[in-house]
Amino acid sequence: MQFNVEINGQKVIARRGETILNLLNRNGINVPTLCHLNGFIPTGSCRFCSVEVDGMTDLVPACSHQAEEWMKIQTHSPRVIKARRTILELILANHPEDCLYCGRSGKCELQILANELNIRERKYKTRNKNLQVDRNCPSIDRDPNKCVLCERCIRVCNETIGVSAIEVVGRGSSSSIGTSLNKGLNLKACVKCGQCIMVCPTGALYEKPTYSKVIEALSNPELYPVIQFSPTVAVSVAEETGIKSGKDVVNLLRKAMMNIGFKQAYDTSLGADLMIQEIAEELNHRIISKNTLPLFTSCCPSWVKYVKDLKPELQDRLATVKSPHLITGNVIKNYLLAKSGIPAEKVFSVSVMPCTSKKYEITLQQNIKDVDAVITTRELIRIIRFFGIDFSVLEPEPSYSSSTIRSSAGVLFGTAGGALEGIIRSFYYQVSGQEMTNYKILELRGMKGRKEYKLKIGKSVYGFASVSGLSNVKSLLDEIQSGRSDLHLVEVMVCPNGCINGGGQPFDASEKSIRSRIKMLYDTDEAEFIRVAHKNPLVNELYDQWLGKPGSEKSNQFLHTDLSN
Ligand code: SF4
Repeated sequence: MQFNVEINGQKVIARRGETILNLLNRNGINVPTLCHLNGFIPTGSCRFCSVEVDGMTDLVPACSHQAEEWMKIQTHSPRVIKARRTILELILANHPEDCLYCGRSGKCELQILANELNIRERKYKTRNKNLQVDRNCPSIDRDPNKCVLCERCIRVCNETIGVSAIEVVGRGSSSSIGTSLNKGLNLKACVKCGQCIMVCPTGALYEKPTYSKVIEALSNPELYPVIQFSPTVAVSVAEETGIKSGKDVVNLLRKAMMNIGFKQAYDTSLGADLMIQEIAEELNHRIISKNTLPLFTSCCPSWVKYVKDLKPELQDRLATVKSPHLITGNVIKNYLLAKSGIPAEKVFSVSVMPCTSKKYEITLQQNIKDVDAVITTRELIRIIRFFGIDFSVLEPEPSYSSSTIRSSAGVLFGTAGGALEGIIRSFYYQVSGQEMTNYKILELRGMKGRKEYKLKIGKSVYGFASVSGLSNVKSLLDEIQSGRSDLHLVEVMVCPNGCINGGGQPFDASEKSIRSRIKMLYDTDEAEFIRVAHKNPLVNELYDQWLGKPGSEKSNQFLHTDLSN
């Protein structure tokens, strides 16, 4: 049902039930928002999006008010602008003036709003809050001085991730956003995924910085610095640095890393390929030995943490194989560089991840570390700018070395459902001795939070499920606990749509750009020569020369963990 509404003197067509905000955005008019989050039930609490409607005494929050047939709406009248400026001036009265030093500068929604509303000086001044920055968590720092009480972090943590690690603390005018008993973010409920960072409009939440440690390592002559990054990271760096589509992004990025001072740049897909082999073997073994099913994947450290801390009854169903970047780090130190006589202690191994949780994950390592530092995609982009890399004149690093051999099955790990697609290809081969006739599994693609697929091999049927956005796992776990027995393997990625939308990725990604990142991974899969992990020549060399076979004692020693940390 459609009807006419007047916006700023122009007639537009509205749909019955849509909010004023949606109507405005559909017609190319943006009004500022702060508490609003796409896809969530609006609260209308910040009032930034308020508009003037003829005949209504008060301004109306556009996010929570439906468009109605009789409405004449003013989006930027003097009264509206005055109200927005006052709201912002009151927020700024309590906000630190350290934009120059803030990691969010340039991407801060408050800064952008102040600029758009032409606020050039501080109108009201209150005493600096001087609250202590929470640095307890290995993945995420939280600066309560910069919090604007929009509650977006609470909503994402509660509704998308389903762990409620962040909450409103205190009452009335002294309430603030914090953690249970104000213990800091290093609490069991927090899975370190960083989705709160992605929705924070200011620099109140940010990844624990590792940037300086990496730059120091690059100028330490005692160290042999190497780096790995996943195709997910390459896709996002291309987006942020304006690398034109059609360019060889992975090899351009490798070249940039060598120019910066890294001795080698590896592709994390190698670790993903090894993980595929190990999980396919573990699944096959469990089925044959009638062990507990379904098996759960272990590639997402936030999911592993969730199981260990909040669902320990599921721990015996969790795969023990390490995550792809730890496996890649292990292979780099213990095989690839060891072959060239470079001692593991000398190697400083950096992994660039779309993920904040991997910063937490590496703190669980013992003795000789697989990975010495994790930086997010955002930190890598900062390093690239720091070193003045100009991609427009760079030539790709030729890709023929062991650092680049991968299969496109490993590439798919970046998107939810992708790890399953990769594992199914090798599982099918392990069980039947034949290749699948069609590698593409449409049932596991798309942006749904839960996807399922049944694979038929001979007379047997195997069930697979992919879940992304941790809150979506609860209904599946209930079904399994109530006796559902048709599933053999479940992939859980805590971030919605998987790592492509991880907590370490560039800010402001629209649904359209997430779709296009996912498409780039699937396009890579279609275009690549080796599409199954078991045909990756480097993976085969590693098993032949070093590890034996998937599931062997040596594989267990180097590629698996006992989950006790
Ligand atoms: Fe990290 Fe990916 Fe898990 Fe998100 S889904 S926490 S980015 S591993």
